[in-house]
Amino acid sequence: MATFKWPTDTKRITSKFRTSSRPDHSGVDIAEGGYQPIYAIAEGTVTKSYTSDSYGEVIFIKHIVHGDTYESVCAHMKRGSRTVFPGDRVRKGQQIGIMGNTGHSTGKHLHFELHKGRWNYAKSNAVDPLNYLEKNLYEASLTVDGKWGNATTTALQKYLATTVDGIISDQVHNSVTNAFYGTTIDFGSGKKGSMVIKALQRLIGVNDDGLLGPITIGALQKYLGTVYDKKLSRPSLVVKELQRRLNKGTL
Ligand SMILES: [Zn+2]
Repeated sequence: MATFKWPTDTKRITSKFRTSSRPDHSGVDIAEGGYQPIYAIAEGTVTKSYTSDSYGEVIFIKHIVHGDTYESVCAHMKRGSRTVFPGDRVRKGQQIGIMGNTGHSTGKHLHFELHKGRWNYAKSNAVDPLNYLEKNLYEASLTVDGKWGNATTTALQKYLATTVDGIISDQVHNSVTNAFYGTTIDFGSGKKGSMVIKALQRLIGVNDDGLLGPITIGALQKYLGTVYDKKLSRPSLVVKELQRRLNKGTL
């Protein structure tokens, strides 16, 4: 069965899918205080992004997973927080808005729906999101020291579901790979590159050649919102943020 990333950092459910007291509640409510980003649960295409009387500020995204179509709905977002619009492609985990209290809502929360097939007015395709959202996000327990060694590589491999051996294989010497700590880098011809770096490159939206260099580090710095200089310092701010995110289980 397809699994999806949680649309929030919190997993605090305040109302479940179609309970006996709320048989027409065709989604789940997720609520938590403070600033709560909303994320795309998988890659996909935005089908609607607008302000509805009932849903408030809402985004619909169509996802195709193993040939099956799904549509996710994130409702009641904070006014003015929507960052994607119809036709936009989104990445898995891309922030699309902020939890809010717009529309028919009596307190800040995310109303989240998942449809197997497209959304329709009768919501006949709605499924219980809790059967589809990842049960246990991988959460690392790395020391946040900004030093990218074997433990960080291992955590990244587990998170991105590639082979887990703590080694970044088949790299070439450049300003980034020469700045690595320990034995986590394996130098070779650079012809095949590394699976974990390819997966990381796809996540952050650069050419997936599997080779870690200034372009990939620069893209990672932009993706994680740290200082952009395309360099791997010893220790490094971008690696610290990577370690923090891996510890939270949300890259
Ligand atoms: Zn709801």
